[in-house]
Amino acid sequence: MFIAVSVLSLVVSPSLVAQTTVESVDVDMVKRIREEGLERSKVMESISYLTDVYGPRLTGSPLTRIAGEWTKDKLTEWGLENAHLESWGPFGRGWTLEGSSVNLIEPHFTSLIAYPKAWTPSTPKTIRGEPIYLDATTPEELEKFRGKLGRAIVLISPPREVKAWFDPPATRQTDATLLGLANADVSSPRRRRPDSSAAAVSPSSPASPASPEQPSNATPASTDSGASPASNPAAAVASATDAAPASRQVGPRGPQSLQNDKWQLAYDEGAAVVLEPGRGDGGTVFVASATLPRRADPARDDRSPSEGGNPFSRGPRPWATDPPTIIPQLVLAAEHYNRIVRMIQKGAHPKLEIDIEAQYYDGDPNSFNIIAEIPGTDLKDEVVMLGGHFDSWHAGTGATDNAIGVGVAMEAVRILKTIGAQPRRTIRIALWTGEEQGLLGSRAYVADHFGSVKVPQRGEPASGSDAPRERQKPTYELKQEHEKFSAYFNLDNGTGKIRGIYLQGNEAVRPIFRAWLAPFADLGATTITSSNTGGTDHQSFDGIGLPGFQFIQDPLEYDTRTHHSSMDVYERIQEDDAKQASIIMATFVYQAAIRDEKLPRKPLDGEVITAPSIPAPAETAVLLSPPVVAPVVPLPALEAQPVGQ
Ligand SMILES: [Zn+2]
Repeated sequence: MFIAVSVLSLVVSPSLVAQTTVESVDVDMVKRIREEGLERSKVMESISYLTDVYGPRLTGSPLTRIAGEWTKDKLTEWGLENAHLESWGPFGRGWTLEGSSVNLIEPHFTSLIAYPKAWTPSTPKTIRGEPIYLDATTPEELEKFRGKLGRAIVLISPPREVKAWFDPPATRQTDATLLGLANADVSSPRRRRPDSSAAAVSPSSPASPASPEQPSNATPASTDSGASPASNPAAAVASATDAAPASRQVGPRGPQSLQNDKWQLAYDEGAAVVLEPGRGDGGTVFVASATLPRRADPARDDRSPSEGGNPFSRGPRPWATDPPTIIPQLVLAAEHYNRIVRMIQKGAHPKLEIDIEAQYYDGDPNSFNIIAEIPGTDLKDEVVMLGGHFDSWHAGTGATDNAIGVGVAMEAVRILKTIGAQPRRTIRIALWTGEEQGLLGSRAYVADHFGSVKVPQRGEPASGSDAPRERQKPTYELKQEHEKFSAYFNLDNGTGKIRGIYLQGNEAVRPIFRAWLAPFADLGATTITSSNTGGTDHQSFDGIGLPGFQFIQDPLEYDTRTHHSSMDVYERIQEDDAKQASIIMATFVYQAAIRDEKLPRKPLDGEVITAPSIPAPAETAVLLSPPVVAPVVPLPALEAQPVGQ
């Protein structure tokens, strides 16, 4: 039953032909979705399996594949069709932590809170010794440590100041913040997600590939945070400011350069293990992947993704199949790290005992996305997609980042199957891996199924053009499925309930989303913002002109406590919020699947080439073009590592 709600709107079609229309909402189905999702929810059960039983889900790890099989089987059990793990790659090596112990053993014993960074190797044996604190604040001071770091335990960063929590760690959007979003100008892209390393892609900009959520720890702020400053501009700035006052006092080359010099020295001299203070306090530690030094490569493309740079050109990755040597490295709870520094400074000669056991998996360099469908009816060759990233970092169990997004998307399709929804278009759920390393899984899927974009590189003339790069336009190579696509809806901003949606610069969808949100005003989801948000998988779609959207959510404890932290665990999921998000996701997907037209699109600004499509068979490896994993280079000389954007 379709009932037109009272939303009469001027819809601007892609061809900019104005027409008056009424966006219909199937209020009977919305009612049934609400009942099923609020009264018989399975979202918390799904999330418990994804975290307690199958977490963490680091891309490439054996446990992630087991989790993927469980998810595929669960979707099949719920009646979805064509559920499969769709291979993409090559990604690189898998990695699993098998043991870790860090203790203060002299002058007395204390066990310390510490987590190895992902893809760190085992220590060859248990390491015992008095650590060396690299308290240099200038390159000249650092030189005094040359020749002293071989086989040493190195404290590589300044201590972090840990302040009292005068503000609550959990917050919701306020009327003021929602009003700010509603009034936002599309010309000022909003980095809604504080950890989105990929700058928001402006509607007029070419589809920039996104950079990893956590590209590296090799900067002062990210070193102390375990999360890249790019991916968390506000928090990382605060963190760096609060945490590393000494590092801001260095000479003309700046603190980041000095921190890189410290890492280079540790690698050059063969330090036994490197320790950093983590962002977080009270037992929460933020941890991501191991820091590698970088080759000074003049040909390297250091432009940010928002400038059209390719994040995968930026040096070796610790998960590469043929990586350079990696020094064992851990992130300590800030309070424990600070204490050791203070003991050293007071001449107390602390001695540490460190043991790391880790396992690499080199058998299959490919990873996978999880795909399943509810087939459509009269428009079944067209598709509406929903999802979120399946992978996580490794210190917690990846609950708010992003078992919640997976659980909500799974719940949305479970609700629709359970109430017998008959969508006109095919509804396809997609759960990505490799997101934390740079939206790799979704980018691979989009390239394989819908198309890709070529952005002129620095110094590279556009085809037959002498125009400067800023004036050059990208080339879109689109597959025929591009035309059959309606929309993708993503959830990846933590456990907070949905408060609205980002238009991603696509004003034509505003009246449509206004109508779809209308039934959820009582649940707090009312805001539509012109601004963009970045840092997650909807960008892979948006980047080639496909409508891809991310919801506005309440931040809750995302930046303060859970995102990429050791305490990103089941308890941090808020059940009522998860249920609310599930029913809104189900409604958006269903409405998109039953309306007469596909969702309107933003125009593509560039040359468009539509190629005949040759669908890749499922269950086979899909090689990407261009390859997304950077070529591996030998252990290099270090230079300033670009902080993500
Ligand atoms: Zn995430």
